[in-house]
Amino acid sequence: MSSEAEAAGRPTGTTPGLVCAHHHLYSALARRMPAPQRTPTGFTDILELVWWRLDRALDLESIRWSAMLGAVEALERGCTAIIDHHESPEAIEGSLDVIADACAEVGVRVSCSYGITDRHGPDGARRGLAENERYLRAGGRGMVGLHAAFTCTDDSLAAAAGLAADLGVGVHVHVAEGLVDAGAADRLSPLATDDWLLVHGVHLADGYELAGTIVHNPRSNMNNSVGYARPARFTNPVALGTDGIGADMLDEFRVAYVRHREDDVTATPESAWAWLEAGWDLFPEAGDDVVTWSYEHVDPWSLAFTTGVGPQTVEVAGEVVLADGRPTRVDAEEVRVRAAEEANRLHARLGEV
Ligand SMILES: [Zn+2]
Repeated sequence: MSSEAEAAGRPTGTTPGLVCAHHHLYSALARRMPAPQRTPTGFTDILELVWWRLDRALDLESIRWSAMLGAVEALERGCTAIIDHHESPEAIEGSLDVIADACAEVGVRVSCSYGITDRHGPDGARRGLAENERYLRAGGRGMVGLHAAFTCTDDSLAAAAGLAADLGVGVHVHVAEGLVDAGAADRLSPLATDDWLLVHGVHLADGYELAGTIVHNPRSNMNNSVGYARPARFTNPVALGTDGIGADMLDEFRVAYVRHREDDVTATPESAWAWLEAGWDLFPEAGDDVVTWSYEHVDPWSLAFTTGVGPQTVEVAGEVVLADGRPTRVDAEEVRVRAAEEANRLHARLGEV
């Protein structure tokens, strides 16, 4: 892409800011959390024993430090725009502002959404919808979030779609990640529009009809043992996300490529690179950011086989927010110390939920 960079007026060894098209910043403090009481044996077990316990233990302070840490880690890997999907059932109101403020402090762009769900009863769904509406009507950049069709009533799905249409934004929703959600397409297809983000699509049947961009999260899908989405089969646009496992998008690109190649020996890195580039359609502002990498050959074939490439300098909206590999607006070490303290408190609360 050196010649591409030059054609776009950028120096060799640079790219625009990378986009993580699906993240859960709240998961940044999950690392080193106590092991669940028994070993999860499938996708719904993983949700119930790990993630749905962690999200109930979140309060606004732990949300703040998870977002600070997640934003720092994104910037340190050249990701300047995060499309986040958040859930904190015991701390819903104001949670999206906390995430947006933390990212702004670090200098990373963020699109926020609160994942509505009926798994805590209709009042939980109503409060989740209200948080999306409050944040978006106040001018926050974001989308309307839905957890997934299988944890939502038809009324909640329709309410989220209606709010998104009223506000002129899309819906950000997990779709067919596990077999438990294989019926999602039938329920969502009357509602979905091209500006929706359809996350995973692992168990979408061939020939499904559902409008939106599919976000492929290969590392997370492998980690949850849900199967391979085979994104090359989709007719929708496809972008790349991490599903909360950091925001190292060059690394996610490599995993996406090698998973594709494992499935189809004729696959080339250009497909996974196109999925990475689709992030700029979702978050066009990141296209104006400039990342200068530690390696000159920032093209798909070189980067697929060159590990450890990192950013030296990152400019967001003309401001240098990373210099010599270090964030300039915040002290990254201090953020890590505060996040570790907050993680200890969060993990202690897990025993109570
Ligand atoms: Zn997710």
